[in-house]
Amino acid sequence: MAEEVDYYPMWESLGMDTASHDALLGAVGQMYGSMYLTQNNRPASTSYLDNFATNLHSGAIKEKLDAKESGKAKKIIGSFCLYVPEEIVTAAGGIAVGLCAGADFATDEVEKHLPRNTCPLIKGFTGFKLGRVCPYIESSDLVVGENTCDGKKKAYEFFATQKPMYIMDVPHVRTDETKQMWRNEIHRLAERLEQETGQKITAESLAEGIKVANDKRRALQRLYHARAFDPVPISGLDSLLTVQAAFMDDPVRLTGAINDMAVECEKRGAAGEGVAPKGSKRILYTGTPMAVPNWKLFNIIEKAGAVVVGEECCTGSRYYKDLVDESGTTVDEMLDAIADRYFNIQCAIFTPNPGREEDVIRMAREQHADGIIDCSLQFCTIYEMESFGMEQAADKAGIPYLHLTTDYSTEDAGQLNTRIEAFLETL
Ligand code: SF4
Ligand code: SF4
Repeated sequence: MAEEVDYYPMWESLGMDTASHDALLGAVGQMYGSMYLTQNNRPASTSYLDNFATNLHSGAIKEKLDAKESGKAKKIIGSFCLYVPEEIVTAAGGIAVGLCAGADFATDEVEKHLPRNTCPLIKGFTGFKLGRVCPYIESSDLVVGENTCDGKKKAYEFFATQKPMYIMDVPHVRTDETKQMWRNEIHRLAERLEQETGQKITAESLAEGIKVANDKRRALQRLYHARAFDPVPISGLDSLLTVQAAFMDDPVRLTGAINDMAVECEKRGAAGEGVAPKGSKRILYTGTPMAVPNWKLFNIIEKAGAVVVGEECCTGSRYYKDLVDESGTTVDEMLDAIADRYFNIQCAIFTPNPGREEDVIRMAREQHADGIIDCSLQFCTIYEMESFGMEQAADKAGIPYLHLTTDYSTEDAGQLNTRIEAFLETL
């Protein structure tokens, strides 16, 4: 039997509030039990995800701190956004971790520093910091932010009083000039990370960083394609957690686990085995990202008898659909290839942003979706704004569409459920 490890000394050494942290872990554990462990007929390989969820704040953090202590890694680098390339972090000897928070915490404290009408994701990560309940934030040596939406950009001014930060300048229009500006920005990030870790980025380390991240993306692409079967072999909830894990878990080990899931799902698909009966309503999700433990919407959709068959968002296809070109041989060529790949992420901060609508319609067709659910976090102006164009694009393609706005609370669960059930009836 494995020896019980006491993680309290580790959490205390990170300066965490262990009593509040216990309360958070208790609540998340309960939610995981009621949302994940009640699912029927999950692929056996999703046991990796249960293990990941159990170790998220304990073994997974210890592993990263041990890597630092043994010299295998130099620094832990946190980020909040898809525009921060993990390839460069790993090439400089860092461990990349995602810090977005999918739950409310210390809201009263947060509202002393940020307006009440700020999006829950921003309030979430600020609350996790102020409440000292996130070992990923506490163990990060440097946090890389970005000037994407106005809320995040301004919230980082406060966050920078709490943690060492470096801010990247992400363009908001796509032209030849902004593409060059973004390439320069990527080179500047590489220099800043080298300075942080004290490790020079070499052609070998960067090629390896690119390969590791691309392998993870290839595995996620394969899993996505396996979800085109009817009955669908894996739930949207499990698929969402797989991408959420991609921001936190060891990339090589996780890639192996995703490939195992993809192989099992392909076999299940061919054998007509699924998580919901054949003919269940199929939903394509698009909208704002869903950070751990924000599983609320997918749980409501799937408990209502439908299945989520794809996600066009940062915790979905945007994370894995494009690879970095692996043909570069020098550090400069590889950094440019990384910049070009990240420049194409279809975030709503860009104007215009037609690629997102095109992706949503393409994915809905690829996955044989019966309907599209587009959901924005409350007070997220840019995704709310894009919902009008998205509805028109869905109409034009003849795909039923539902727009929702929600936050991290459970208060609107009943109302969401009613709207989703009514939408499913029309499909
Ligand atoms: S939605 Fe945009 S700003 Fe938010 S994580 Fe994704 S790329 Fe970054
Ligand atoms: S959900 Fe919207 S408002 Fe919130 S951080 Fe992302 S882009 Fe900004």
